[in-house]
Amino acid sequence: MPSVNEVMDDSTETETTRRQLQLLAGISDPAIAYLDAGRRFEITNEAFKRRFGQPDRDANAGDFFDGVCSPAVGEYLTNAIERRQTLSVQLDCTGENDDTDRLRLRAMPCFTQNEVRGIFVVFEEIESRTAEPKSKADGEEDDRMAHLQRMAKLGEMAAGLAHEVRQPLAAIGNYANALTRLLRTARHDEALVSLVEQITDQAERADHIVATARNMIGQGKDRVRSFDLVRVVEESIALAERRARQLDVDVRFSAPSNRPSVRGNSAQIEQILVNLMTNALDAMADCGRRVLQIDIETTHAHAVRVRVRDSGDGIPQENLSSIFNAFDTSKRDGMGMGLSISRALAERHGGQLWAETDVEAGASFVLELPVCNEPADKTE
Ligand code: ADP
Repeated sequence: MPSVNEVMDDSTETETTRRQLQLLAGISDPAIAYLDAGRRFEITNEAFKRRFGQPDRDANAGDFFDGVCSPAVGEYLTNAIERRQTLSVQLDCTGENDDTDRLRLRAMPCFTQNEVRGIFVVFEEIESRTAEPKSKADGEEDDRMAHLQRMAKLGEMAAGLAHEVRQPLAAIGNYANALTRLLRTARHDEALVSLVEQITDQAERADHIVATARNMIGQGKDRVRSFDLVRVVEESIALAERRARQLDVDVRFSAPSNRPSVRGNSAQIEQILVNLMTNALDAMADCGRRVLQIDIETTHAHAVRVRVRDSGDGIPQENLSSIFNAFDTSKRDGMGMGLSISRALAERHGGQLWAETDVEAGASFVLELPVCNEPADKTE
């Protein structure tokens, strides 16, 4: 397991923010830059480079905008950092092509409890806003800001969680291993030894899942191999089973006798399946009849499907695709990230994930993955 420093050092947090911005860079119209707490450029998106040119890495933003934007922006950036507040101001800015445009600058610091990590700087056209009613444009702008802030927060949360959770998991694993050795030397009952071994197994599985979350935010390493899909589905069911028992859910499972193998990262596939099962259990919490049906279907020559079906209320037809958007949630404590991450992971494996609904039968999620011709790698 990694050391604390490997999980949480400052450079990985910066790397996380950098990756988030790289992600946003492809989908955002406004010019965006991310500066470190000393107002030096860390990263800029394509729109920024088109408008202002490419600043040198580590160039000071106050100096860079000097003579380009009026009034000067350096002071706004310092104020936003010191006050830890998003500040907004209208500026006249001269672009690469010498045209002057009136732009709105938003300076949005991102900070942890104790210190400012950096600052997002977003420039938006004011003209394009006048075409729409003011209140709507303002609302959309606020939504985009909130989205940026949530993305930054999410990276921080995930890094923090990975750090917090992996330490106790490592400790549980070590204690359980020591206990197994002790029990064996004292020739204790085999049933007791097997129980303790299960603790080790579960700690390792949980560690896999945390490692997968780290992969999603750009930390950790992917382990790609061919694996037995049936085994991974069974392990995912084992992880969901405790909650299913608490809710008195009847869990049913069917698998073909030929055990299809899939190539990829089994911990990530497990993460998708556990997420689908957890959602299914959530959806049935208030229902009278509670059945969770998991089927592995090999009806297609090159692909295998895992269908996770519940007996909840289903999903309205019009929401079948939007539920895969990040931050789309109907739950009071939900993050709305599970399905969006799950779909990204499925696609990373050359597969697909989609939802189907049936008023009679509740919701059904289908994970389709390409079948791999190699036998499953048994080394793990
Ligand atoms: P979260 O669980 O945090 O809300 P997800 O991305 O996993 O995030 O799910 C997004 C939304 O999709 C849920 O809030 C819920 O409205 C809907 N959803 C997901 N699975 C089901 C299901 N099995 N039945 C009904 N609705 C579902």
